[in-house]
Amino acid sequence: MELDGLKNPFMDLEQHGKCQAFYIWIDGSEENVRGKSKTLDFIPTSPSELPEWNYDGSSTNQSTGANSDVYIRPVSIFKDPFRRGDNILVMCETYAPDDNPHPTNYRHECNQLMEKCKDEYPWFGIEQEYTLFELDERTPLGWPVNGFPGPQGPYYCGVGANKVKGRKVVEAHYRACMYAGVKIAGTNAEVMPSQWEYQVGPCEGISMGDHLWVSRYILCRVAEEFNVVVSFDPKPIPGDWNGAGCHTNISTLKMREDGGMTEIIKAIDAMGKKHKEHIEAYDPSKGVDNARRLTGRHETASIDKFNYGVAHRGCSIRIPRQVEKDGKGYFEDRRPSSNCDPYRVTGRIVKTICLGE
Ligand code: ADP
Ligand code: MN
Ligand code: MN
Ligand code: MN
Ligand code: MN
Repeated sequence: MELDGLKNPFMDLEQHGKCQAFYIWIDGSEENVRGKSKTLDFIPTSPSELPEWNYDGSSTNQSTGANSDVYIRPVSIFKDPFRRGDNILVMCETYAPDDNPHPTNYRHECNQLMEKCKDEYPWFGIEQEYTLFELDERTPLGWPVNGFPGPQGPYYCGVGANKVKGRKVVEAHYRACMYAGVKIAGTNAEVMPSQWEYQVGPCEGISMGDHLWVSRYILCRVAEEFNVVVSFDPKPIPGDWNGAGCHTNISTLKMREDGGMTEIIKAIDAMGKKHKEHIEAYDPSKGVDNARRLTGRHETASIDKFNYGVAHRGCSIRIPRQVEKDGKGYFEDRRPSSNCDPYRVTGRIVKTICLGE
């Protein structure tokens, strides 16, 4: 693992008051981000000051060659930890040539849903799990090329070169998110070696998706500097190895206030009645990806069963022990896949628990 680009001496050169804006959008895979750069001759302070732009959707699996332009509209701004200074990262929504939200643009509907229930002040915290791979995309970082490391056990929150792989990437990503203004809450090494987690939140409403998508871009970009590859696959290595999820922690104002447990149970009951709809929204393939992970083993519940429990990690939904003690707080939906779209996940959740749809 080495650092390729960061010591580039050209990066100190004067930019004469111009701003480099890196526009980021979600591509046709509904799992990966793309981005490109634009020079601005002012330093923007709000996304509304930024020009709309476009890209070739036929190269991102989002349109045909004959009518290929997809429009990108800036929706939130972060500081750029790679270029630094006044340069920015710009999260965008995608629009089709007819001006309708692109079918892969789930932010548009999510934003409307969040707007409808803003009086309930919904907060989210997402635990993003992922796996680092060598450039061959087959060997998890630091695993023997032919064979496997010793069985799971010593790796979770482990310390030492024999237990964790890729900490330099994790630390760089953590700091880069802080610099950018992404609300990163923590990190930990996971149960499978080369698998990691970070948490983003609590974030209110639509900002959960914006912060998580930008944190994913920063992660892939940091890994690129170290010549390693990030996988968001929910079960990157079949067999007796943990999968990767995006546990989503949820609360509304009422749940956070005294007696909030009643509201929490009400919300969980409503979610139990919509289990199928939630599973369909929790990965890019209506549950096909997640089915490899939600087996009822490796700290998951089976994909076709809904259950909940206090401090139970084999459940669809877990109420943290401390929340039960306090009688208020939040709960954790353990079903979303590591490659989920957080706009779909948070949108689906407020539809069920706030809007009764
Ligand atoms: P776990 O015990 O499941 O590993 P983590 O500590 O990894 O939990 O993540 C807990 C997440 O819950 C954090 O992202 C945090 O921001 C989020 N969180 C804490 N309080 C709330 C709340 N009231 N509403 C929503 N999310 C919350
Ligand atoms: Mn061109
Ligand atoms: Mn966690
Ligand atoms: Mn975890
Ligand atoms: Mn969790």
